[in-house]
Amino acid sequence: MRILIVAAHPDDEVLGCGGTIAKLSREHEVHIGILGEGMTARNVQREDVDPKALEGLHARARVAGHLLGSRSVLLEGLPDNRFDELPLLDVVKRVERWVNDLAPEVIYTHHQGDLNIDHVVTHRAVLTATRPIASCPVREIYAFEVPSSTEWSFQRLGGAFCPNWFVGIDDTIETKVQAMESYESESRPFPHPRSPEALRAYARRWGSVVGLQAAEAFELVRAVRP
Ligand SMILES: [Zn+2]
Repeated sequence: MRILIVAAHPDDEVLGCGGTIAKLSREHEVHIGILGEGMTARNVQREDVDPKALEGLHARARVAGHLLGSRSVLLEGLPDNRFDELPLLDVVKRVERWVNDLAPEVIYTHHQGDLNIDHVVTHRAVLTATRPIASCPVREIYAFEVPSSTEWSFQRLGGAFCPNWFVGIDDTIETKVQAMESYESESRPFPHPRSPEALRAYARRWGSVVGLQAAEAFELVRAVRP
């Protein structure tokens, strides 16, 4: 089976489904697609970012992807936290190209109610790029949560995250934490939701909901069994 992760920023793939990627990539072909360049929103002007720092971030995305066992990490470089300034079609076309090139049966992507605008646009672009017409290879779409974005909308911006699909990650949670640590610039100390302690706590919490030691939680967006 071929699986595609569609993330807005370098590190979202790890935060959202790093444990699941590490687990699935043992048996399946997993590809990671990252639409945004990351990082540049921290500067007033996009141009103020040191290109070397950005290159470093992208190199770390490849390291993290390798750690998780993914076959490829595709980087598109859309402007950070500015996806809403682009025509939606531009974002859709990039997802469409990945879908055409890779023909994934399953896609994991962002939840539509996140605080981060790029996450919201990404969710919408995935739905648009994978309309369930006869030629669409995608049979299942799952939405993941991103700690420090999904919960920080406080259910005000597009519905609560209501997971109904869980993947046990007891044997891959530490790989997830390690992959996150390879993104030095994106990790934060506890109690930040991106800290190693918080990531482990999230996994334990969702595990406890479904009788597992640790889990990642997803919303099933759509599933079609032909
Ligand atoms: Zn993000």
